[in-house]
Amino acid sequence: RRTFIVANWKMHKTPEEAAQTAESIITSLSSLPATADIALAPSFPALLTVAEKLKDTPFLLAAQNVHTEPQGAFTGEISAPMLKACGCQFVIVGHSERRQYSSETDSLIQKKIRASILNKIGPILCVGESDAQRNEGRTFKVLDKQVREAVKGLSVTDAEFLILAYEPIWAIGTGKTASVDQVQEVHAFLRETLADCFEKDLAKRIRILYGGSVKPSNIKELIALSDVDGALVGGASLDPETFVSLIRNGL
Ligand code: 13P
Repeated sequence: RRTFIVANWKMHKTPEEAAQTAESIITSLSSLPATADIALAPSFPALLTVAEKLKDTPFLLAAQNVHTEPQGAFTGEISAPMLKACGCQFVIVGHSERRQYSSETDSLIQKKIRASILNKIGPILCVGESDAQRNEGRTFKVLDKQVREAVKGLSVTDAEFLILAYEPIWAIGTGKTASVDQVQEVHAFLRETLADCFEKDLAKRIRILYGGSVKPSNIKELIALSDVDGALVGGASLDPETFVSLIRNGL
């Protein structure tokens, strides 16, 4: 599985700032190893300015959200065909911040995944338990439900587009990274769940990223885990120098 590192810029950076950050990253990493994929996920207004910088480079473009319908009277929403037209190859779906602040449910997330795949955009499905759920010993139950409901109805061919991201909510933006044992245990469980939903060979091909306080100092040990195929990075992806050293340390 190719290593995949994704920068999630969340609600940061104007179109100009995002383009400048993209340019610094690209310039610093002019010799990107052929075995890794790097994607940048700016806010919607910055997709086109970043796409312009990524043109003719190996870097990939991702969006942070998508609507379920291709078009229509949905004020304020952005469709998968629109993302495709902006050059997106990936879209983050079901991030815990969207589940929490925008009340996204597993069934809505399932529709977003279908809409993305229909437009040949790889959905990066985020799953993760809260602090309380972990303390109550419900981590695996929560993750099992999030994965199964989100991939319901997908064919094996559809699932080839899927990327999974394990982001424990208690590790996001807190500086508190999950331990390597916790991460490997969950990733192995997620891969088994995928094998059960689809088939073993496909589950072996699907990339599972870890997210939650990933930094230049801990990326190496996380990526070294057998079921971790990359990282979804928030805070440490905002400053180009930090993100570049994170990538260098991780590859
Ligand atoms: P942090 O890297 O800031 O913890 O954020 C993780 C995240 O939510 C990426 O999607």
